[in-house]
Amino acid sequence: MKRNSIRIIVTAGPTIEPIDPVRFISNRSTGVMGYKIAEEALRRGNKVTLISGPVKMTPPKAHKFIAIETAEELLSVLKKEIKKADCLVMCAAVSDFRPKFVFDRKIKKSGKELKIELIENKDILQELSKFHNHKLFIGFSLETENLLKNTYSKLKRKNLDLIVANSLTKLHNPFDDKNLNVLIIDKFKNFTSLKAKNKAFISYVLLDKIEELWYLMKRH
Ligand code: C5P
Repeated sequence: MKRNSIRIIVTAGPTIEPIDPVRFISNRSTGVMGYKIAEEALRRGNKVTLISGPVKMTPPKAHKFIAIETAEELLSVLKKEIKKADCLVMCAAVSDFRPKFVFDRKIKKSGKELKIELIENKDILQELSKFHNHKLFIGFSLETENLLKNTYSKLKRKNLDLIVANSLTKLHNPFDDKNLNVLIIDKFKNFTSLKAKNKAFISYVLLDKIEELWYLMKRH
């Protein structure tokens, strides 16, 4: 580890929210972005804790690796880990909803309609905001419209230092390992637009920005 290393937590992948012992709801996150960020942070000599939902990849050799499944598990792990970190990169695609009831046996077909009630998961970044002092919080956003306006208001609402915005359109789907267009916005309203760049390159630019913000915060 280098002398001025930053203790970085990276969350990656989806959360899965059980319906019964064999079924769940989740999303299309593959974890590639989070794993690339963890790799780049490690390559620069930082101390990295990688917290990951279920994905198909082998994780990079972080200082600590924690596997989670649900949003509630992720929140409870983060409440402990955040106290030992300087920076949280919240790249995980946290499921916004979970089934209200989890059946303890496999639901059987009955020939009738089945209704599954969903309730909202807590917003993890907002729940952690009381730990934010002297730390950097980085968020991600996926928007289908008004990318700039919606992303900037998310940065404000979630009290973030930096946000990486992806757009989801018919022509641009950010899931998986491919080239992306992203917009990086910091709390000082500096914008960086990256066009058709791979996730390793985006991670490189993001780590530069994290280091810049970190040294700025340390000086004040
Ligand atoms: O509000 P939205 O889900 O678009 O925000 C995305 C950002 O918020 C991501 O950084 C994601 O990891 C985080 N998030 C969270 N808790 C949730 C949902 C998303 O911290 N319940």
